[in-house]
Amino acid sequence: MYDEKKGMGSYNAAIDDDALEFLADISNGDARNALNAIELGILTTDRSDDGVIHIDLATAQECIQKRSVRYDKEGDNHYDTISAFIKSMRGSDPDAVSYYLAKMLYAGEDIKFIARRIMICASEDVGNADPNALQVAVAAAQAVERIGMTCEDGTDCRNYGVLDGIHEAKVLIGDMIECNPDNIIIYGNSSLNIMYDTIARSMTHGVMGSTPWCKLDKVKFLCPVPGYDRHFAITEYFGIEMINVPMLPTGPDMDMVEDLVSKDESIKGIWCVPKYSNPQGITYSDETVRRFARLKPAAKDFRIYWDNAYCVHHLYDIDQDHLIEILAECKRAGNPDMVYKFCSTSKITFPGSGVAAIATSANNLEDIKKQLKVQTIGHDKVNQLRHVRFFKNIHGITEHMRKHAASLRPKFEMITDMFDKELGGLGVGTWYKPKGGYFITYETLEGCAKNVVAKAKKAGVVMTPAGAPFPYGKDPKDSVIRIAPSYPSLEDLTTAAEIFVVCVKLASIEKILEEK
Ligand code: PMP
Repeated sequence: MYDEKKGMGSYNAAIDDDALEFLADISNGDARNALNAIELGILTTDRSDDGVIHIDLATAQECIQKRSVRYDKEGDNHYDTISAFIKSMRGSDPDAVSYYLAKMLYAGEDIKFIARRIMICASEDVGNADPNALQVAVAAAQAVERIGMTCEDGTDCRNYGVLDGIHEAKVLIGDMIECNPDNIIIYGNSSLNIMYDTIARSMTHGVMGSTPWCKLDKVKFLCPVPGYDRHFAITEYFGIEMINVPMLPTGPDMDMVEDLVSKDESIKGIWCVPKYSNPQGITYSDETVRRFARLKPAAKDFRIYWDNAYCVHHLYDIDQDHLIEILAECKRAGNPDMVYKFCSTSKITFPGSGVAAIATSANNLEDIKKQLKVQTIGHDKVNQLRHVRFFKNIHGITEHMRKHAASLRPKFEMITDMFDKELGGLGVGTWYKPKGGYFITYETLEGCAKNVVAKAKKAGVVMTPAGAPFPYGKDPKDSVIRIAPSYPSLEDLTTAAEIFVVCVKLASIEKILEEK
């Protein structure tokens, strides 16, 4: 606008701020639209008395109208968009590339046409810098030509339908959680959402014909503690009474579980994170799983909520925990309908846009589908398909999880090494060394957890509130602190861990002095 050499500076024109903002907005990320509109405005607007060509909002609106932003497959806009797409690839701007790709696909552009342009770019623009680019582009073009957006059975994944998920996604998830694909329903992105739905349905409609829980005087759930706060939030939300069951190094205290479940008909479920548990990283022992499968609950509609969120989340290649598959074990024990198994790829691909699933018996599936078919016409199959195409099979998931492990392992080890070095032998707390999962738990002396978290906060280290891993946010001993090491860099985490151990020492000294 003001550049005399490359622009229209010699015209002595000026543009109002609101006109500029409008053009930036309406140009849809394509600066050429805005530049064209400005050029048109300058060339077609009369000079004012002050000798300046003023482009105001009305002029800008009129000029951009002449260059429609609608996507017209046959006309100019088709070429504008594909050209912007190519220039974005050339400019190595993945956000812009995704934007124009999405725009073209949304408008119904032929995917083969787009794939051809990508091949041309890979060959002509990228070729010398990276000869592999062409191979990748050609492979993608071939795949899309031969396979398209359809899944194995020919279903177009962009359309409605396939209530329980596409078959290949069931196979992939089935391999991941060691279940028959026929026992699986694929949902949207969130397993927590499935758990919520499962409880909501049991409240309003019961479980396989049982009395809806909302009609009962009392409904109770067993909650192994410490556990996952969001499980407890769901049960609290529905007014379900929660009973703490202590976690042992082998899993929940099964003597207590067996005793309570067999005597009390109002106990309708138990929350379990059986592998690399949240927050301690404990994996249930074989005996624990077998005892679960052999439970004799007083309530026919008692279900085990088996949240296998960390099923493939090993930190080590060889030294891994193993968990007995619960569905098969329950079937063998004559309790085929007693378990709902949940999982998702939230900690594998994307939290918030992964794929989640439930696995359970045929009877339970039938019960669930009565609700599901009213609730939705089908979940996001494009997302299911992209997960399948990205991983291909369980080996793809395993390889991918190795990369996560490579990033997480040093963080876990740094923390537990520091605990060993700084806190080992002092008698001021205990911790496990998880072989997988996402958390480390530090157990302080009784009555110190809140103090440690508060001290750390004062020093700039924000942690999960003490008490969070317990029903109603109440840790009876005020001793459990959940540490989530995944997000910060190793450097920041090291500083945070140093601060944390100092806070533990201070809080422990205060406690010891108080008792003297
Ligand atoms: N279960 C457990 C044990 C978790 O730790 C988490 C995430 N922190 C979830 C479920 C949530 O999973 P999703 O994103 O699939 O709802």
